[in-house]
Amino acid sequence: MITPMRWIAESMMKAPVNKIIPFSNVDGPGNRCAIFFQSCPFACLYCHNPETIQMCKNCGACVNQCPAHALSMEEGSVCWNQDVCVNCDTCIRCCPHLASPKIQWLDVDELYQRVKKLRLFIRGITVSGGECMNQAPFLTEFFHEVRKLNLGILIDSNGFYDFSQYPQLLELCDGVMLDVKAVDPQFHQTLCAQDNTTVLKNLDYLLSINKLEEVRTVLLPHHEEQNRKTIEYVVKLIDNRCRYKLIAYRSFGVREAGVKKFGTGILNENEMKEYEEYAKSLGNVTVTLV
Ligand code: SF4
Ligand code: SF4
Repeated sequence: MITPMRWIAESMMKAPVNKIIPFSNVDGPGNRCAIFFQSCPFACLYCHNPETIQMCKNCGACVNQCPAHALSMEEGSVCWNQDVCVNCDTCIRCCPHLASPKIQWLDVDELYQRVKKLRLFIRGITVSGGECMNQAPFLTEFFHEVRKLNLGILIDSNGFYDFSQYPQLLELCDGVMLDVKAVDPQFHQTLCAQDNTTVLKNLDYLLSINKLEEVRTVLLPHHEEQNRKTIEYVVKLIDNRCRYKLIAYRSFGVREAGVKKFGTGILNENEMKEYEEYAKSLGNVTVTLV
């Protein structure tokens, strides 16, 4: 039973939303509403949306750079005026803290109402980030509501949080699309500034409860040994119980440190095909190349 105080606390719960894409066909099967939450415990060198990594520190550095005067400081906090913003992203480019001032703090009902408007046109929703599991209590409440719309629910996660600790959340969603960025612990640490123990534990756990929708690995130029090591581990473990998406590294949007490490090149079609063949040579696997 929900006590009045708990109900008030839960109904007041808000989460920082970086972006909502009403119709996406790249965030899971079918046409989906993709919701990107702000902040992430990883700081991957090749992240395409590095402005989603940190919460805004209200340093004010972006305020005077905005050509549309959409930013201001009020009582020590940066305020974003969505109505006059021209989405030039100058603020994101000049932010020294991997953050964005363009965040909306939404409560469960506000987010639910946005999804509800789309329900006739989408197959489901995907929550992403940043790392959406930073908002696990909010997601649990939100999923409760979305389920009433008869929509599918997928979680796109880097696996930092131990999913075995969130049985209610998993019960409410259809599955998790899990990033396995690297199986080698040291390389994972270099790549993401975090350990991969929990990621690999999640891979096992989600398979065991049939909640693993997809595994994704970004393949990096000049790192063939690491790429192959990760592919081998994943293919043998999943044994075709879910899709495996192999994604070619692209430097677009990547911050300077990432470009310095991985360059501006991209793995060509032939190289990606070779990785696909390699994966298939290791066992029964359904591979998608991106
Ligand atoms: S994207 Fe940022 S800098 Fe550009 S108009 Fe909007 S708030 Fe201003
Ligand atoms: S978005 Fe970045 S630059 Fe702007 S106030 Fe926040 S931390 Fe400072």
